Amino acid sequence: RIRKFSSTATAVEEPITPPVKINYTQLLINGQFVDSASGKTFPTLDPRNGEVIANVAEGDVEDINRAVSAARKAFDEGPWPRMTAYERARIMLRFADLVEKHSDELAALETWDNGKPYEQSAKVELPIFVRLFHYYAGWADKIHGLTVPADSPHHVQILHEPIGVAGQIIPWNFPLLMFAWKIGPALATGNTVVLKTAEQTPLTALYVAKLFHEAGLPPGVLNVVSGFGPTAGAALASHMDVDKLAFTGSTETGKIVLELAAKSNLKPVTLELGGKSPFIVCEDADIGKAVEQAHFALFFNQGQCCCAGSRTFVHEKVYDEFLEKAKARAMRRKVGDPFRKETEQGPQIDSEQFEKVLRYIRSGVESNATLECGGERIGSKGYFIQPTVFSNVKDDMLIATDEIFGPVQSILKFKDLDEVIRRANATRYGLAAGVYTKNIDTANTLSRGLRAGTVWINCFDVFDAAIPFGGYKMSGIGREKGIYSLHNYLQVKAVVTPLKNPAWL
Ligand code: NAD
Repeated sequence: RIRKFSSTATAVEEPITPPVKINYTQLLINGQFVDSASGKTFPTLDPRNGEVIANVAEGDVEDINRAVSAARKAFDEGPWPRMTAYERARIMLRFADLVEKHSDELAALETWDNGKPYEQSAKVELPIFVRLFHYYAGWADKIHGLTVPADSPHHVQILHEPIGVAGQIIPWNFPLLMFAWKIGPALATGNTVVLKTAEQTPLTALYVAKLFHEAGLPPGVLNVVSGFGPTAGAALASHMDVDKLAFTGSTETGKIVLELAAKSNLKPVTLELGGKSPFIVCEDADIGKAVEQAHFALFFNQGQCCCAGSRTFVHEKVYDEFLEKAKARAMRRKVGDPFRKETEQGPQIDSEQFEKVLRYIRSGVESNATLECGGERIGSKGYFIQPTVFSNVKDDMLIATDEIFGPVQSILKFKDLDEVIRRANATRYGLAAGVYTKNIDTANTLSRGLRAGTVWINCFDVFDAAIPFGGYKMSGIGREKGIYSLHNYLQVKAVVTPLKNPAWL
């Protein structure tokens, strides 16, 4: 039954039963599902109502130790780094096929654990996941070193070798995609991995890791430990036998893991962190399209995107028209059970994020931004929030400076390009930016002026496998996806041999 809560949204009183069974809740270490060393479990909750979906083995220091030693052995003695790159690629392709075969169940599990619309899981995220593994399988046998000229009679080879055991820590907002971004390049380059999933969303990684073993992945190459950040996550970041750390999550936690890595064995670290991305609508933009894209840029995935276009800058000449249409669009947004076909927005991930978003909405009202629509929770169960739009937002308000990570659009007015570049860049973050204009000179001026790892012109959230993604400033260190990600997992070795009687140098 659907009850109408407002003209803008509906929420579900009786949740639809997810069309999937939960088969895997233990830790996956050395190719085997095992209980945690302590025997402890923790509940993973349904964001639609806060009820327990399953109890999952809770990994801690000892489990991380077991997983790292399995990954170490698989790297030092196992077949994975020693088989031909083509064989590795074949296993990755077989895995992608298995994921495709099971994609309905995986999409249902992802939606159940995370709350995102099933249509999005099934039609957007699963295909991108499969594509990423095709892409990285394609790279496996195309990674090679160089020979370079020497100043003296020497033969110089530069070898690109796998870095070793990779520790990877991922967040809850895109559990499967974060798995793919991390595991794809690490395994294509011949490394072994210990992955620590987010405590809110442990289920799909266990399922796909099981499929990877069915595809022929040798034991110990990919170990998945569910558990909490300060225990399992910190143990992984500070482990002496982990050769590389890759982290996605908040900037605060990024600083912690960087410090843990530095204080232990100085392992190299890549970080994908938070953002407060500008979305700039110029006076010549197609307003209808700009409204739709700005809406998508912010509200996609319940606003829980690191690159969300969370500061919508609109030129003063088109501000009133844009605001009217943006508000109408937000009020039409369909909120409800994520398993319902028409649902555009499900619940926020958990009570903590839900409360945080509502706190930011209150702060927007208190700081005298104009609440155009939304602002309330929907229903009495679960973590549904009305699509919310603020206008008259000023640069120094908390809703304009902080990452809200929820369905709250902040609209700001600007006069000219120099001004908007300065204001857009006046943030500690630098992950992404969006620009709407029909003028090529304006597009070029903005794309060069904005200090962000991605600038989308007349589009947003285009996540092709080959496009690198990452942040300037406090949005991170390094890039994922594309060829850039491969280098995160490679060591560079120079081998120098004297040449006798060289014909040429
Ligand atoms: P978070 O930093 O709290 O958690 C992320 C991961 O880190 C989780 O697996 C968590 O268990 C782990 N963790 C927490 N404390 C830890 C510690 N002390 N030591 C080691 N690991 C620890 O972030 P979150 O709230 O789960 O995720 C939302 C944040 O992630 C947002 O700020 C968002 O911008 C960011 N994010 C960034 C990207 C990107 O690509 N840049 C992508 C997705 C999310």
